[in-house]
Amino acid sequence: MRILLATEMGFCFGVRRAVEMMTQAVAERGQMVSLGSVVHNPQVVEELRQQGLETINDVSQVDQQPVAITAHGVGPEVLQRLGESGVEVIDTTCPIVTRSQQWARRLGEEGFAIVIFGDPAHKEVRGVVGWSTGKVLVIPREDQVGPLPAEFPSRIGVLSQTTETESRFAAFVKKLLEANMDRISELRIINTLCHATTSQQAATMHLAQEVDLMIVVGGRDSANTRHLADVSREAGVATYHVETANQIEQAWLAGHDKVGVTAGASTPDFAIAAVVERLQAMAPAPATR
Ligand code: SF4
Repeated sequence: MRILLATEMGFCFGVRRAVEMMTQAVAERGQMVSLGSVVHNPQVVEELRQQGLETINDVSQVDQQPVAITAHGVGPEVLQRLGESGVEVIDTTCPIVTRSQQWARRLGEEGFAIVIFGDPAHKEVRGVVGWSTGKVLVIPREDQVGPLPAEFPSRIGVLSQTTETESRFAAFVKKLLEANMDRISELRIINTLCHATTSQQAATMHLAQEVDLMIVVGGRDSANTRHLADVSREAGVATYHVETANQIEQAWLAGHDKVGVTAGASTPDFAIAAVVERLQAMAPAPATR
């Protein structure tokens, strides 16, 4: 059995930057809290917890400890509450997410209603919604696109959650226009997809065409890891999404000659290495890129 690795996988620059900023901040301060998980990866969260970084889930839980904002960012109301509480804030919002937030605000200020393609419960999307000053609608799937609410103005701005796939965002925009052609006077599409995730998706697609089994490594809560698994399945290859190496079952490998490994943008290098090691132990083979 051969093990092939995706040419691009694992920590994106935004997550690496956030983890490095928080690692340094907690080393300097001893104890601090993070508003939500640093990344959607339980292993990384646990490692930082052991260094003194606890996770809180709501701004109401903030006491006097310094607070880190994660790479997914927050809405302005959260920043305001933190400002009022007087605690030190370490903001690790990914610059690409900041760009989405700025567009949400700008479109609202210019009189556009905003339609966001993404998961309304996802932290990044909730933050972006918070920055918009006008009417906003979040639609999680392209097959849920229909006529826009009657109270929406005729100028519509469209944004996407950064981790969506190019093909799905394109299909979403097409459906939105088709379903509302009669009432849209201006449609402004802002490409807020993240290059790091689109190139990981392209690498996954490429690899999925070469192998007959794919292992996708990353947190269950990680949107971009789940999207990689979707991309792989859409390519027609048997795909398993695992958080850790020990979840791989021997039976999955039966009858497969080439196994591909890819990983989401929040998956640390050690988790990928452990998966490759386990695959090699199950069916000794060199890992090649
Ligand atoms: S996936 Fe992209 S947008 Fe999200 S943190 Fe990484 S670099 Fe930033």
